[in-house]
Amino acid sequence: MAIKQLGEICVVCEQSKPKGIHLYTSFICVDCERSLVATPTTDPKYKYYISKLRKINKPEIFS
Ligand SMILES: [Zn+2]
Repeated sequence: MAIKQLGEICVVCEQSKPKGIHLYTSFICVDCERSLVATPTTDPKYKYYISKLRKINKPEIFS
């Protein structure tokens, strides 16, 4: 892993952020986490977030 100690890459905004949470196996920065929580599940944006998470959540199998 070549991630700097400063932060991790947020799966939603794809920027290196020093603070955030781990959801599934992904890292989400506090800003995106806040947006996600504030977004109603009926909002198209919510689907966008989830699709981002799903993409990362797929298990990586060495084949
Ligand atoms: Zn983010």
